[in-house]
Amino acid sequence: MPPKQAPEKQNYKRVWLLFLYFLILSAASFVFVHLLLPKPVVPITSPAASSTTATAAPDSAPVPTPAPADAALLPDGFVYVSDIIPDAQIDIRYYSAYNFFGTRIDGYEAPQAILTKEAALALKTASTILAKQGYGIKIFDAYRPLRAVDHFVSWSQDLTDTKMKAVFYPNLDKSALFNQGFIARKSGHSRGSTADLTLVHLISGQEVDMGSSFDFFGEISHHGTQLITNQQTQSRNILRDAMAAAGFAPYSKEWWHYCLQNEPYPDQYFDFVIR
Ligand SMILES: [Zn+2]
Repeated sequence: MPPKQAPEKQNYKRVWLLFLYFLILSAASFVFVHLLLPKPVVPITSPAASSTTATAAPDSAPVPTPAPADAALLPDGFVYVSDIIPDAQIDIRYYSAYNFFGTRIDGYEAPQAILTKEAALALKTASTILAKQGYGIKIFDAYRPLRAVDHFVSWSQDLTDTKMKAVFYPNLDKSALFNQGFIARKSGHSRGSTADLTLVHLISGQEVDMGSSFDFFGEISHHGTQLITNQQTQSRNILRDAMAAAGFAPYSKEWWHYCLQNEPYPDQYFDFVIR
């Protein structure tokens, strides 16, 4: 015959059972809430996807902040622009999908602006001149690997891919981009001393209205066009004068494109990847 349990011992057992019951209940609700309930889905939107309607101006795309890069990885003679001009805004469009092509371009593995040391120092001179007038600079492209230009060429041969036509070349036939000089088989950018840039207001950091956006291909992007206001022409001239004073030559068809006149590698085209 089993010994009869004392009443205190029975109470003790009841408390333990109650505790065990709550323990199981909490574990079950944890499993339900954290593991079984479906997670809310956060939609991922890219600037490229949202711009296919052509309502957004190209310059409204967010500016990616480049991560610090290791200059020791660059070939001799090249520098990261952010190491030479720390306050320059860097918005490398061919790293993002928000560009002429609607996709990241081969050779752009980081949103970094790289130039020859000579070009970067000349650009610093221009940015100092501009700062005195209340302007900063925003760089859209600088050194461009040869493989990126190859990517441009193969893209241009596929006439069905016109994803970004409405934003960047609404008035041009894709087949005419080569003939009209907008896309070349070789680019001065690959020599490392050419940059595409615009002005920003130093105080607000906002882009100055230049009358057309970077990489908008059409007459409105030419120097001397009558299609823009006097104020816009004046803003383009402020950039052009500062760049000229620093030793850069403009390109008649693109207000944003400048090549160092006394470039250190006038005949050499590079293909190292941007990291
Ligand atoms: Zn350019």
